[in-house]
Amino acid sequence: MAIEEASKEQGSGETEREVVSRNFIEQEIDKDLKEGRYDTVMTRFPPEPNGYLHIGHAKSILLNYGIAKEYNGQFNLRFDDTNPTKEKGEFVEAIKRDVEWLGAKFNGPFFASDYFDKMYEAALKLIRDGKAYVSDLSADEIREYRGTLTEPGRDDPNRNRSVEENLDLFERMKNGEFEDGSKVLRARIDMKAANINMRDPIIYRIAHLHHQNTGDKWCIYPMYDFAHPLEDAFEGITHSLCTLEFEDHRPLYNWVVENVGFAHPPRQIEFAKLYLTNVVTGKRYIKKLVENGTVDGWDDPRLVTIAALRRRGYTPESIQKFISLGGISKANSSTDYAMLEYCIRDDLKTRVPRMYAILDPVKLIIDNYPEGQTEEFTVPNNPENEALGSRTVTFSRELYIERNDFMENPPKKYFRMFPGNEVRLMQAYFVKCVDFRKDENGKITEIHCTYDPASRGGNSPDGRKVKGTIHWVNAADAKPVEMRLYENLIDEEKGVYNEDGTMNINPDSLEVLQGVVEPALAEAKPYESFQFVRNGFFCADAKLSKPGKPVFGRIVSLKSSFKLPKA
Ligand code: ATP
Ligand code: MG
Repeated sequence: MAIEEASKEQGSGETEREVVSRNFIEQEIDKDLKEGRYDTVMTRFPPEPNGYLHIGHAKSILLNYGIAKEYNGQFNLRFDDTNPTKEKGEFVEAIKRDVEWLGAKFNGPFFASDYFDKMYEAALKLIRDGKAYVSDLSADEIREYRGTLTEPGRDDPNRNRSVEENLDLFERMKNGEFEDGSKVLRARIDMKAANINMRDPIIYRIAHLHHQNTGDKWCIYPMYDFAHPLEDAFEGITHSLCTLEFEDHRPLYNWVVENVGFAHPPRQIEFAKLYLTNVVTGKRYIKKLVENGTVDGWDDPRLVTIAALRRRGYTPESIQKFISLGGISKANSSTDYAMLEYCIRDDLKTRVPRMYAILDPVKLIIDNYPEGQTEEFTVPNNPENEALGSRTVTFSRELYIERNDFMENPPKKYFRMFPGNEVRLMQAYFVKCVDFRKDENGKITEIHCTYDPASRGGNSPDGRKVKGTIHWVNAADAKPVEMRLYENLIDEEKGVYNEDGTMNINPDSLEVLQGVVEPALAEAKPYESFQFVRNGFFCADAKLSKPGKPVFGRIVSLKSSFKLPKA
């Protein structure tokens, strides 16, 4: 399918899958086309505009888009805005942007509310055919009459109302004569059906609510199980791909399209949702975190909304690859978050320059280096990608290095800087630590060393070896920048919720540091990404950066615990 092809084009040899087996959805579609059930393929992505899209939605988008593309069909974006209470225009714009950014080219967008007239007509047809009736029961009574998994339901006292009476009552419902909850329209199916969804489900309810698209035109609104199959059918969707929780609703989906009557009714096929380990994906949870101020918006880089992943520095290609690696199945399971990180690392590895940046700087002074002297070193921007060229970095007597690259009393196997030890300053010189200063709190304020001029370029002059290589930035032209490091919002050990029902938030999920970078990095544009040598991949935060004053957030560290399974 298309998204697998995409990953093949840009994947490294290690991840390439030469033979792509067809997933169960493709097998079903192949069969439908062969049997002449449809002569084209049309899919859709139908979000409710009540929040931002998250990584789980990306699976649905790329699956639906990929299928349409593979079969030279069509892919619709449709806003499921039948519910007038919760929807917001802000979400419509955000969703459109995210779908486009993911690379899914859509027809539309369409709005379910544009079909309200046709849905009303469909309801009238069912009433005329004796397949729907107006009920006076309250919500509680309807629930009580519905029965349970083990007991059949009982017939609604209004079940045998005449067609004329039903038409009259339904019209008066529409005209606003009745209060919310006083009447509903029910499909007349089977109160004894084993599947509870088939026990005369409600298909229209009264709600005197303003709708952001249709205004006050309607005071009756169709229920999801009635509206959704009709939306699909009106648009000519052939394969309505949805997640597993709708499996029990499929008989009702089929009943609606059959009884309203369509020449080529759409067909619902279910697949498993994407769940990530250790990450909150549900819209409901994310909304809670936004509303209670735990995060700085729907695009907070610690979230897994599409907007957050974009702000964090994820690329569409990395997400396409992640979804493609996960595959499509009919069984729910959780995908390792480390796989998502693997995908962005793999994508950026050769694509972005490798630069020097210090997250937590401390001064390094080279006592025997001439004062006032500056040297230039030419370094490749990415040794694995010559096309990225090279740049010049300056070097002088005072540098910055990482605070954690020095230890006064190092443990065994610490090969970086400590009194008496010699290390390599990356691509510059061998230096030997001779002294250091502390303030009254014991914090290291500067480190002193001497350099060996014969080791220029970082090469050993006489075969002598050093075990540690550290990076550095010239203090004279270093630019101060804010650095942000992220950890998961949810503490893995303890689960999503505490015993008292509150969310178990990791208090250390954001660490803000004042770092320094080589001067070129001060010009980084929003969304621009880099590898900071030894520190990971970073992206200029589009919300917090100012011209000439970027704020860098870590996309992902360099080390991975994830190994791609052998194909
Ligand atoms: P959430 O469960 O996060 O609240 P939702 O299902 O309410 O999301 P919708 O806007 O109704 O969000 O979903 C649009 C489409 O995205 C639906 O077809 C739904 O099945 C699909 N979808 C939602 N979550 C996932 C997921 N985790 N994996 C795959 N598809 C998903
Ligand atoms: Mg939903």
